[in-house]
Amino acid sequence: MVHHVDVLIVGAGISGVSAAYYLQQDCPDKSYTILESQESFGGTWLTHKYPGIRSDSDLFTFGYKFKPWSGAPIATADEILKYMNETIEENGIDKHIRYKHLIKSATWSSKDKLWTLEVEHTGTGETLTFTCNFLWMCQGYYRHSEGYTPDFKGMDRFKGQIVHPQTWPEDLNYKDKNVLVIGSGATAATVIPAMAADCKHITMLQRSPTYFIPGENRNEMADTLRELDLPDEWIHEIVRKKILHDSKIITERSFSEPELLKEELIEAARMYLGSDFDVEKHFTPKYRPWRQRIAFVPDGDLFEGINSGKASVVTDQIETFTEKGVLLESGDELKADIILTATGFDLCVLGDINFTIDNTPLTFADHTTYRGFMFTGVPNMAWVFGYLRASWTLRSDLISTFVCRLLNHMDKKKAEVVTPELRDEDKGMPALPFIDPENFNPGYLMRSMHMMPKQGDHAPWVFAQDYYTEKDELPAADLDDSALVYK
Ligand SMILES: Cc1cc2nc3c(=O)[nH]c(=O)nc-3n(C[C@H](O)[C@H](O)[C@H](O)COP(=O)(O)OP(=O)(O)OC[C@H]3O[C@@H](n4cnc5c(N)ncnc54)[C@H](O)[C@@H]3O)c2cc1C
Repeated sequence: MVHHVDVLIVGAGISGVSAAYYLQQDCPDKSYTILESQESFGGTWLTHKYPGIRSDSDLFTFGYKFKPWSGAPIATADEILKYMNETIEENGIDKHIRYKHLIKSATWSSKDKLWTLEVEHTGTGETLTFTCNFLWMCQGYYRHSEGYTPDFKGMDRFKGQIVHPQTWPEDLNYKDKNVLVIGSGATAATVIPAMAADCKHITMLQRSPTYFIPGENRNEMADTLRELDLPDEWIHEIVRKKILHDSKIITERSFSEPELLKEELIEAARMYLGSDFDVEKHFTPKYRPWRQRIAFVPDGDLFEGINSGKASVVTDQIETFTEKGVLLESGDELKADIILTATGFDLCVLGDINFTIDNTPLTFADHTTYRGFMFTGVPNMAWVFGYLRASWTLRSDLISTFVCRLLNHMDKKKAEVVTPELRDEDKGMPALPFIDPENFNPGYLMRSMHMMPKQGDHAPWVFAQDYYTEKDELPAADLDDSALVYK
């Protein structure tokens, strides 16, 4: 039996639920299904189960535009799942989600003007077939089944336990153990304060320092507006605007006065750690602020962990793993019972799905992106890749509104197919990386940029990666621009 819907959404993470909400609101006559390989909704917030798992950006902007957030700005995974659950239930999205449905392949037929998906039901092992007119890819940007661990020399020699935070064993016992965390990104900054009290000692080993923004986990403006007894919807909108305004200034300053901003960020760490701590060595990054995501450290808890003596930081390179821990290039050995490899993600462009168009395999890296969410030569498909500097969801919401506008426009034109195509004036345009490494260059992206689609050097073939540009450009984009070819 073949299941057919107008729109098929891949993934029930924060983006897939955004897509469903807007589709119901803006295109109420369209039938849709969300296929999700996991056993529940949440995506990132369901997959990650390490101690302390929390957002690193605020929930006023990571939350949806349409659903007020009323908690503290930085939220735990459980709080985000509760917020998503309310969104799903309040809008009747639950009856459209099919869990344990892993999409293996997607084939476009120009003759039938349809996508056909081969799907494995991971509970029963059955293979199911779905067809749809429009495919909306909300599958996230990394492989959920396992994280990225570099191939460290001698790893097999280590007699203790090696754990990647993305695949956290429920029964991991770290009480009174020496734990070594490799990495200093948002995951390390979360897990270290959450585990410090129970471990014997926990050490953060970093190759090079990272920026952090320590601060209280409260929003002063939200607290004041709540005291005034304003409706949640107003508070949400006002606080979002204020946060977006302040973040814009920080982003602009990271380009216009990087040295001053750098000094302010480092000074904030120094205030927590005191003048005896070697902030120069451990918390002074070499790169310009915002070239990589800056994690917010609520209540300075990472620094408090260091101050308590239960956590420490080492800046050095791994020479090799040993039986008891790791040997560093400096010659020091760090001993550990458990090693956590907080070394990041494995980027996965489109959910590890085999795509074909009229029986020709599709390699996304050979295609150019239309505004960072559609691809040349790929019919009836949108893809969500959020912001790296601002909250991801700001972009999911913008893309959702755009896709609904496009679907309604197609109906008005009586078009069944829309495909971005380079125009004559675009031929010969350079094929640039999807993310400019001069602008933003975290390891997981740099390792895998060759798998990502290309962008051009002028609209609509660029991915602005900037909320402040796209919030005006996307709603105003001309859908009859000849870059979109309708049939
Ligand atoms: C630990 C962690 C913390 C983060 N914190 C923040 C933050 O504070 N702020 C921020 O802006 N961003 C943050 N991010 C980035 C984060 O991934 C996104 O913000 C956001 O949650 C992504 O949502 P999504 O719905 O697009 O994708 P995901 O959350 O990745 O969800 C995609 C869903 O698609 C499903 N799927 C994938 N492939 C298939 C397939 N073939 N078949 C069926 N289903 C499939 C997956 O199972 C998953 O449930 C964080 C990321 C991590 C890992």
